[in-house]
Amino acid sequence: MKKITNLQGTFELHNGVQMPYFGLGVYLSKDGNEVIHAVKDALNHGYRHIDTASIYDNEEGVGQGIRESEVDRKDVFLVSKVWNNDQGYDATLRAFDASLKRLGTDYLDLYLIHWPKGELSKDTWKALERLYKEKRVRSIGVSNFLKHHLEDLLPSVEIVPMINQMEFHPYLVQQELLDFCNANNIQYEAWSPLMQGHIFDLEVMKEMAHRYNKTIAQIVLRWDLQKGVVTIPKSSKKERIIANADLFDFEISEADMKALNALDRGKRFGPDPDNFDF
Ligand code: NAD
Repeated sequence: MKKITNLQGTFELHNGVQMPYFGLGVYLSKDGNEVIHAVKDALNHGYRHIDTASIYDNEEGVGQGIRESEVDRKDVFLVSKVWNNDQGYDATLRAFDASLKRLGTDYLDLYLIHWPKGELSKDTWKALERLYKEKRVRSIGVSNFLKHHLEDLLPSVEIVPMINQMEFHPYLVQQELLDFCNANNIQYEAWSPLMQGHIFDLEVMKEMAHRYNKTIAQIVLRWDLQKGVVTIPKSSKKERIIANADLFDFEISEADMKALNALDRGKRFGPDPDNFDF
């Protein structure tokens, strides 16, 4: 098991970049005050990783939140993603510039292909490789790539993706994909780690949280980290942003890790990477 120590702890990507393993997701955090405050509260509390995307329509607020926080830009791991209708070589380069402009920064820490788009994503990837070589982004990766998407992409790449960001929670473990990514030095990352809020209804989670005297969010997010998976829970409420990150003072036992793994039922709360229409 990789060592999990504190809110600013990192996993090392295959290019040596240190990626904070715990971050703030901002999907559905509204641009303007809501996202500005979420980002500011998170950074001032000790978060060092913010996950946005051009499609979230809040990059301006994210940038403003970083600037208004007590933390220097260079100490923040800032992630954005290229949206589907911007895929392709030239369009991706333009989309990257537009994201930087909205964020008010001159580099990203990680840029992801948001969804796999077949052959087109190979051109998108070439654009990401160029941005990486030009040192405009410190690491590059993909999102929502199943094993067959990766097997299709990998033979054509010069630089292996550093990340695969996937829906991941106890109802959707996809252990085979996780093993494949680990074997290829592609860091796995969880989106919707709280099952978009559904995790809070599970009796088994209530029981475990009670037993550890922690919250359900802290248990499931700690499970992510102990599995070596980067996690980016979303909240725009200051108390939850702070509480969700309070998980560095306990450890989930091996038996309970297994019990959580065993909840897997291949259930998605988000779109299926093999069957989406956007
Ligand atoms: P999530 O699983 O993080 O759940 C968020 C929901 O849980 C929100 O409704 C929030 O209010 C609630 N919540 C958070 N903390 C809570 C607490 N302590 N108690 C009770 N409720 C709480 O869902 P998500 O936002 O879908 O995923 C997290 C992040 O992952 C996103 O914000 C985004 O950055 C990223 N994401 C990426 C993709 C992708 O395709 N790459 C897709 C979805 C999300």
